Amino acid sequence: MSARPTKIVCVGRNYVDHARELGNEVPANPLLFLKPPSALIGPGEPILLPDASERVEHEAEIGIVIGERCRDLAPEDALRVVSGVRALNDVTARDLQRSDGQWTRAKGFDTFCPVGPVAALPADLSALTVVCRVNGEERQRGSVREMVFGIAALISHVSRIMTWEPGDILATGTPAGVGPLRPGDVVEVEIPGVSSVRNPVHRRNDRET
Ligand code: MG
Repeated sequence: MSARPTKIVCVGRNYVDHARELGNEVPANPLLFLKPPSALIGPGEPILLPDASERVEHEAEIGIVIGERCRDLAPEDALRVVSGVRALNDVTARDLQRSDGQWTRAKGFDTFCPVGPVAALPADLSALTVVCRVNGEERQRGSVREMVFGIAALISHVSRIMTWEPGDILATGTPAGVGPLRPGDVVEVEIPGVSSVRNPVHRRNDRET
């Protein structure tokens, strides 16, 4: 179990190939944005496509869970505060991300942050990979080794801006291969051997509650 996060801190364009596929440069400093905790869902819960967007995409990511209150960490101390790792899908309304400029709406709809169970951080971080499958077909695959900014550097960087609280999540960016989600799809993000999250995709209007 981990505490409910006070924030989900996300990193944009942290894999060279993904930055390029969307026509962007790799940033000189980590490009940060927030997703609201209200976007969180667990395995099996539906991702709901809002009417406001015509292009909602999956982004498979390695989610890092922070275990204690901390700030101003040096990179060499950063992994000490990690309580675990979890598969994370940074679901994004790509059309709204482009049209709004600010990413809050595109990244912040309810259900836009599926997360898998929290697992212990493996001793060899460099072995972590993340995979995305849509309807069983592989769409994305990336390794920690391909990240522009590594996990310890990111935890440290964020800690110099805002205090980490227990349960907070760092979403470390997505590799190339992002693509659309359609009603009836099933999308899975897996950190092989560690954590996975699988969700059906529905239209928000079709919700039966
Ligand atoms: Mg992302």
